[in-house]
Amino acid sequence: MTFDAARAIFADELDATRSAGTYKRERVLDSAQGTTVTVGDRSLLNFCSNNYLGLSNHPAMIEAAKSALDERGYGLSSVRFICGTQDIHRELEGAIAAFLGADDAILFGSCFDANGGIFEAILSESDAILTDELNHASIIDGVRLTKARRLRYRHGDLDSLAGTLSDSRDARIKLIVTDGVFSMDGDYAPLEGICALAKLHGALVMVDDSHASGFVGPTGRGTPERSRVPGEVDIVSSTFGKALGGASGGFVAAHQEIVDLLRQRARPYLFSNSVPPPVVAASLKAIELVSESTELRDRLMTNAERFRGAMSLAGFTIAAGDHPIVPIMLGDAALAARFADLLLDEGVYVMGFSYPVVPKGAARIRVQLSSGHTPAEIDQAVTAFETVARKLRVL
Ligand SMILES: *Cc1c(COP(=O)(O)O)cnc(C)c1O
Repeated sequence: MTFDAARAIFADELDATRSAGTYKRERVLDSAQGTTVTVGDRSLLNFCSNNYLGLSNHPAMIEAAKSALDERGYGLSSVRFICGTQDIHRELEGAIAAFLGADDAILFGSCFDANGGIFEAILSESDAILTDELNHASIIDGVRLTKARRLRYRHGDLDSLAGTLSDSRDARIKLIVTDGVFSMDGDYAPLEGICALAKLHGALVMVDDSHASGFVGPTGRGTPERSRVPGEVDIVSSTFGKALGGASGGFVAAHQEIVDLLRQRARPYLFSNSVPPPVVAASLKAIELVSESTELRDRLMTNAERFRGAMSLAGFTIAAGDHPIVPIMLGDAALAARFADLLLDEGVYVMGFSYPVVPKGAARIRVQLSSGHTPAEIDQAVTAFETVARKLRVL
C-alpha cells in the first residue's frame, strides 16, 4: 500500500480520536518551567507540572549542569559499556544507592526505560509477576516483554493480591510490582500490607516511586520510608524527570546481584545512549539538595495541606490524602474540560482528565502543588476554582 492509500487510514484514526474527545493539544510555553509560566502573551499560575520541589529551574541545578557542560562536555556518543561511563555516572549511582539504602543503583535514559528493561532481564517463563491493575504504562509494557506469567490484582487490594499469590504458588520467583503513588488519584500503594504478604508467600517487591522520590516520607526517601518498610522493598525504580530536576533520566536501586544483572542484560541500558553529563551532574545536585535538608519537601507538604484544606472548606469533592497530587472530582467529562478552560481564563493552568484515562463518571481536574508555590498563589488558585464553580453552578 502506498502512503496515499495509507493516509486515509491514519486520518480516520485521528478523526476517531477527535470525535471521542481524547485528542491531545499541547500548550506551548515561552518560559522556563515554574510556578508561573508564559503561554503566548499570558502569564499563568502553573498547577499541573511534576516540578514538586521547584528544582526544574533551580539556580543550583543550573549551575551544576553548566559546570558539567564545561568539564565533562555535552554528550558521550556512546552507550555505557563502550565508552559512555564517566566518573560522575558512577558517582550518581552511588549517591542514589546511599540515599535509598540500597546496595547499588543503575541509571537509565528514563524511568520508562528502567521499567521497560528490568522484567525481561531478571525473570523467565518459570517466574510470575503480580501487578496492580493501575500500574504505569511503562510497567505494563515492560511486563509484556517477558515470558513470565502475569497476574493482575485489583488496585490496592490486598485480598486480590493474596489470591494471585496463591494462584502463582508454583512459580520460581514471584515479583510483586506496584506504583508507590498512583498519579490520577495521588493515592499510595498499601506497602506495609504488600510487604507482609510478600514475606508470607516468599515474593519479591518492586516499587516505582516516580511520584514520590525526593519528597514522600519524612526525609523524602519515598513510599517505602513513608510506610516504614524501607528494608523490605527489593527493587525501587524511579525518575529524575519529576521532583528530582525534571529533565530526564531514570534508575533502578536494588540488591547488588539485580543491579549487576541489569548492567549485563537490560536492553534499554545496553542499546541506548548514556545519560548526558549536564543531566547527571544536576541529578547529583538534586540528590544532594534533598539529602541535606527536608526544607523543600516540608514546604511542599505544607502547600498541599493548605490547598486541600481550602478546597474542602470551599465545598469541593477531593479524594482524601496528603499527596501534592490533588484530584478535584467533577464526574462529567465535558464539565471537567469546560472547568479547566475557564480556569485558564482566570489565569490558572491545570489539566482536566476523563475517560479513558480515569474511570467513566470520575472526570476530574488534577492539581499538582510545588514547594515553589507561595501561600498567596495557592489562595489565588482556590479563589479561581470558586469563581469558575459559581459560573458553572457546581458548588
Ligand atoms: C512519570 C512516570 C514514569 C516515566 O518516567 P520517565 O523518566 O519520564 O520515563 C514511570 N513510572 C511512573 C509511575 C511515572 O509516574
